[in-house]
Amino acid sequence: MAAAVVSPLTTVTVQPGTSAGGIVRQGQKLRVVDVAGGQVGDFVALNLNDHSEHLDCAYTNWANLGWRWQQGATIFTNRMNRMWVIKEDPTAVHFTGGGFCSNDARRLFLDPEDGVKGCRDCLQDTFADNGIAAHCLQATSCFNLFMNVDYAPDGSWQAHAPVTRAGDFIELRAEMDIFWALSTCIMPWVNRGQPSPLRVETYAAGRRPAAAG
Ligand SMILES: [Zn+2]
Repeated sequence: MAAAVVSPLTTVTVQPGTSAGGIVRQGQKLRVVDVAGGQVGDFVALNLNDHSEHLDCAYTNWANLGWRWQQGATIFTNRMNRMWVIKEDPTAVHFTGGGFCSNDARRLFLDPEDGVKGCRDCLQDTFADNGIAAHCLQATSCFNLFMNVDYAPDGSWQAHAPVTRAGDFIELRAEMDIFWALSTCIMPWVNRGQPSPLRVETYAAGRRPAAAG
């Protein structure tokens, strides 16, 4: 008998150069799908009941004794509380050094006259749309999904094209009630080719999503 297909509770498609946010409750799962492949996203999360508590890459790296988080690893907050568990992560290539692209960064790296919003600006808009103060968006909160960075032994690092292909995803289980936000990045050298959308799906607690198609 074929396994029943489990429908998402919510589905949000995040087009390149935009961001979106939503709520996921403790025990529910959140899946970020790289729809066309080769796309990077800036993912952040806050404790729904205390916006001063956020996903924290620095403390998660410390707790996990590594910057490349493994499937099954816990993602911690700035208060060292358990926020997410990585349930499935088939490609497992992400950047956990924190920081967002921004219009400031675009003016430094691309064009001094650039007027385009970066991920930080888009995420601040999403925070504002949801009544969340701009200072709650912290650089250490940025879990840079699918971004492929090499830390070289000589101390340098370099961003390469993502390894994700169409339909690749990461799935997280919420360990608390969470406000999440995701921007789909348009910086040229971290994405492969044309920027393309990411899709966020949430699933009920205890239900196993069907394989990504
Ligand atoms: Zn970006």
